[in-house]
Amino acid sequence: MKSIVIAIDGHSSTGKSTVAKKLAKALEYKYVDTGAMYRAVTLFALRNQWIKAGEVKVNSLINQLPSIKINFEYNGSDGTNDVFLNGENVETEIRAMQVSEHVSSVAKIDEVRQKLVQIQKQLGEEKGIVMDGRDIGSVVFPKAELKIFMTASADIRAQRRYNELKEKGEDINFEEVLKNVQHRDNIDSNRKNSPLIQADDAIKIDNSHMSQEEQFEKILNLAIERIKST
Ligand code: C5P
Repeated sequence: MKSIVIAIDGHSSTGKSTVAKKLAKALEYKYVDTGAMYRAVTLFALRNQWIKAGEVKVNSLINQLPSIKINFEYNGSDGTNDVFLNGENVETEIRAMQVSEHVSSVAKIDEVRQKLVQIQKQLGEEKGIVMDGRDIGSVVFPKAELKIFMTASADIRAQRRYNELKEKGEDINFEEVLKNVQHRDNIDSNRKNSPLIQADDAIKIDNSHMSQEEQFEKILNLAIERIKST
């Protein structure tokens, strides 16, 4: 079977990663969560105290970008890849609310995007990859053979995220999560550099009322069709 590039973009908390991971497993493709990369850079900035009262010390971060190494390593226990920041596994830490609060402000910095997009392009050079994010079909792989754009209502996305965080034991309230989802939508969609947009040739899936199984089946069928016709 021919290897293709599958780009899954969309709004925050639409379940992109869940479906992308399952898809990669079913097709025996590589999976890359690009949100994890932006989150890792945000964690680096937070640890260096470069984010205060919502303001990012952009120059300090840009100057230190060359010293940030981000890579993925296979995690045998759940069969996916964990993100590493300068050799440290930060997969759990990057999901904390504090990182979610600031990640969109970091992700709008041109230099950060340039660095991460370059790594993402390299990871996809050999195809056979499922990559999820915001600009994969529009910027990273404009020629991806299959592009999916996932969305759902903000309330439903916030509820899903809230349930996830609660399960992990975070002390959080629903309003806070909803505000974060709306805030990220706003910054992601309105930034100058590679805003979140649906690529012309992307297939839109509104999963507000779809189960994870239904989404997976739908995307898997689309992928198989595309692989056959490529
Ligand atoms: O996918 P996830 O919600 O983990 O992404 C976190 C944030 O990283 C997004 O809200 C967005 O600001 C940024 N991001 C991005 N481009 C990508 C992936 C994520 O700007 N390709």
